[in-house]
Amino acid sequence: MKNKALQIAAALEAVYPEALCSLEYNGEPWRLMVMARLSAQCTDEKVNRVCEVLFQRFPTYQALADAPVEEVEEIIRSCGLFRNKSREIIAECQILRDEYDGRVPDTMEELLRFPGVGRKVANLLLGDLYGVPAIVVDTHCIRLTGRWGLVPEGEENPVKIERILAADLASLKGRAQSDFCHRIVLFGREYCSADKPRCSECPLKELCPSAGKPVSRKKQKKSRSKSSKTTETS
Ligand code: SF4
Repeated sequence: MKNKALQIAAALEAVYPEALCSLEYNGEPWRLMVMARLSAQCTDEKVNRVCEVLFQRFPTYQALADAPVEEVEEIIRSCGLFRNKSREIIAECQILRDEYDGRVPDTMEELLRFPGVGRKVANLLLGDLYGVPAIVVDTHCIRLTGRWGLVPEGEENPVKIERILAADLASLKGRAQSDFCHRIVLFGREYCSADKPRCSECPLKELCPSAGKPVSRKKQKKSRSKSSKTTETS
């Protein structure tokens, strides 16, 4: 008998046989690293739009490594936190150029040395670029694993959630864990948003202990405040 996480993984695969990363990085690893940094507190859709302009202006990691920070700030301004993000994506490209000859490293330890790369981004890179089993704990993952009862109620610590899911999904090899995470994002957007889950139409309602339960006002407020925190003003 499969555990609950594996049952949900199978159900998600049936709904979304393709598990594409929603960041359009055109098969270029350095671009995924940059886009993943830009996606913090920003939608993937907006990152894709902004990066069309960014990568047209700076088409290689070497070009972005040498980019004037003010120009990068102007291009990525709408992604929010644009001052920090500009400095960090330029620094990422400098490290790639100076220490890795453009190759995005394939270990957690090395990835965590890059500015703006935490476990979430590192796991995204390891899973998508190298097929390493890796759990990407983003806001969708935190919300949905809570609603599905895969983690203790109220648990929002990404490292703890990653540990629980990695154990429950240990039998998923290669890219299957990162595919699971991509499907969570697709599913969260389509059916199970933070404030208005569409339980009556949800293909996972038989597996979900939260089906039909109202979302608390506190959680609605929290989700609204998170979605409004995308613009850096200082
Ligand atoms: S049944 Fe409702 S709460 Fe559960 S996963 Fe589906 S949409 Fe979300």
